[in-house]
Amino acid sequence: MREAIRGLRWLLAALMLFCALAQAQAPLVMSGDAATHALAPHTTYFHDSDGRADIRAIETSLRAGRFRPLPGDDASFGFQPGAYWFHVSLLNRNLQEPRWLLVQQYALSDRLDVYVRYPDGQLFHQAGGDHLHFEQRSVRYRHPNFQLDLPPGQPADLFVRVESQSSMQVPLALYTPTAFAELSRDAQFAMGVYYGILLALFTYNLVLWLTLRDASYFWYMFHISAFGLVLFTLYGLGFEYLWPHSPWLADKAVPLSICLAQIGMQQFARNFLGLARRWPLGDRIGLGMIALFVVLGVATTWIPIRLSTQLAVVAVILSVAWIAVEAVVAMRSGYKPAKLFLLAWSMFLAGIAMVAMVAFGALPKNFVTEYSVQIGSALEMLLLSVALGYRYASLRNENERIVRESRDQLEIKVEQRTGELRSALEQLEAAHLRLREFSQLDGLTELYNRTHFREAFEHLLSQARNSQQPISLLMIDLDHFKRINDTYGHLVGDDCLRWTSNTMAETLRPYGALVARFGGEEFIAALPDMDLDEASNVAEELRQRLRDRPCRSGDLDIPISASIGVHCVDIDKNSIDSALQVADQALYTAKAEGRDCVRTL
Ligand code: GH3
Ligand code: MG
Ligand code: MG
Repeated sequence: MREAIRGLRWLLAALMLFCALAQAQAPLVMSGDAATHALAPHTTYFHDSDGRADIRAIETSLRAGRFRPLPGDDASFGFQPGAYWFHVSLLNRNLQEPRWLLVQQYALSDRLDVYVRYPDGQLFHQAGGDHLHFEQRSVRYRHPNFQLDLPPGQPADLFVRVESQSSMQVPLALYTPTAFAELSRDAQFAMGVYYGILLALFTYNLVLWLTLRDASYFWYMFHISAFGLVLFTLYGLGFEYLWPHSPWLADKAVPLSICLAQIGMQQFARNFLGLARRWPLGDRIGLGMIALFVVLGVATTWIPIRLSTQLAVVAVILSVAWIAVEAVVAMRSGYKPAKLFLLAWSMFLAGIAMVAMVAFGALPKNFVTEYSVQIGSALEMLLLSVALGYRYASLRNENERIVRESRDQLEIKVEQRTGELRSALEQLEAAHLRLREFSQLDGLTELYNRTHFREAFEHLLSQARNSQQPISLLMIDLDHFKRINDTYGHLVGDDCLRWTSNTMAETLRPYGALVARFGGEEFIAALPDMDLDEASNVAEELRQRLRDRPCRSGDLDIPISASIGVHCVDIDKNSIDSALQVADQALYTAKAEGRDCVRTL
């Protein structure tokens, strides 16, 4: 029985050994000239889900065959709790290189523990990762690295334990010191070129912002700084140069800088595309995105890094797609600079898409695909900078056009207004003239009125004085006019007054006479350049004409006669009043001597 149990034990042990051998990978043999070795094809791993196992427990697990080969030779497991253990059997046959550098080509792992077990049972331990101070690294380099002593010809077991809040990615490689120097030199140069471009664009746009004070430039700088910071962090440069003593920032910098970059980009897009004017709804959604990233950025400081990074990645996908939508809408609304913006943005998206395609194996890994995010984003920022210039130029042209147009319109308006003013003035003048004429005329007969007669006669008198020519006055009064009114009524009387006025005007004006209605049925006429005889003759002519032409009113023919007093004014002595008085006396005489006659004094 005892024999049987012992046999069973042996069988079990042999089975376990067989399993272990079946699971085990071939050892990594460093031989010949190869100066670099990727560990993945030789690695097995074990997930210690509560992270409590120590190296001895792990060695037991390894012997018990609990380690598995890497799926697809890829040590990427996403976000994981606990710790991951990796094991590689090493055999250094390279006689020139007893010292090798183990590099973890991913910058964000929190803590790495590296153990080397030698055949004599000795165990060496080193620790790294961004939860330790940067100075602890074997070589000052952005990725965690560990110096390993691997005496040629001796096998050794390498165990790497990784525990991290960030994604579980453990691409390990061994380098000879020379190979590592070359690798870091090339990578550092590529980074230098990238950040050189970013710095130049930053400075250029800073100068533009300071001179033009256009907010778009500010948000552009904000975006490129924050985006530069994202890559700086992802590639481990942030931990190397900016916060080598802050594991807290080493953790939070990725989601924080992602939030900042998106705030900058969303704000830049709103500003550059003029969304508030062109698409108010889109503008509000853009603002909502900014608010989302602000909240996420603040939350990042206290929620688990795993959660905040995952949230940030989802939000970034939404935000990046949304910016493309905004650009398309702005472009379709006829805003030309939006085309360049969209082109720039698609460069950036193409860069990201390339990285994704490399990750899925759809594209081979080479310089362009490896640095496609940098190339894409550098092109994007360069094009955005050009777009800013283009936008500035088109804004300036638009302004000039508006100023030119408004100036032209102003000129047209001024001309219009001047024309209107001129015609209004002309109308006013005409109205004024008419008013003046009305004020000079008698309403019924349209002869001059008494007031105007006095003024005009004064003028004639002074002319007569100057030229020493005579001037005479006729004072005319219709005979028995009251009877006409009494017989036919006032309206017929008015007709008679108009009729006689016409006859007087027709008869006297050819003599250059100034004729006026003096009041009631009494008229006055001044005859310049006429002495008493001449004036008497004219008066006689008038009397006869009045007599010969009865007034026609409706069907009636009403005979009319007038008595006329004539007076030749003594230009040197007579005033107007005295001259009128004398003429009136002559009229009185004519009345007294039987009417329908001409008399002088
Ligand atoms: P005499 O021959 O002495 O001048 O007699 P007469 O009737 O013409 O003189 P009188 O001064 O007595 O009357 C004048 C009349 O003229 C009185 C008035 O009714 C009339 N008359 C004055 N102005 C107007 C007017 O504007 N229209 C009309 N229809 N009649 C008027
Ligand atoms: Mg009369
Ligand atoms: Mg009278």
